[in-house]
Amino acid sequence: MRENDGKAQMTKRRMTCIICPTGCQLEISNADGKVKISGFQCRRGEEYGRNEMTDPRRVLTTTVRIKGGSLPLLPVRTATAIPKGLLSKAVATLADVEVEAPINTGDVIVSDFLGTGTDVIASRDMEAIAQQ
Ligand code: SF4
Repeated sequence: MRENDGKAQMTKRRMTCIICPTGCQLEISNADGKVKISGFQCRRGEEYGRNEMTDPRRVLTTTVRIKGGSLPLLPVRTATAIPKGLLSKAVATLADVEVEAPINTGDVIVSDFLGTGTDVIASRDMEAIAQQ
């Protein structure tokens, strides 16, 4: 919602905090760059709401192809949250990645992913299958 009285511009947004299962309903307003947040029950919710207004980020979880592994795909995730606007490019980029077994949980699959400073890491171990 936008309110404009000719002097100040205000943006209001409602969203559910997704940090924990409580699911607090946040109301966030931005008036001339001043962000006000209400409806949170803890600091993490306040921080989540502020970040959603200024720099929304998500941890990406997906899979990459793996050669010689016990399964054809390896679950991976970004080590930290990356800008939400990069998610489509991130998924497309990882669709071209193939690694080779064995892999251990936490192994770096792609370092400094898309220049974000965060790595893509393996979410599980993957043994190599014996070649015959
Ligand atoms: S504001 Fe705090 S208590 Fe409420 S959903 Fe977010 S993290 Fe959970």
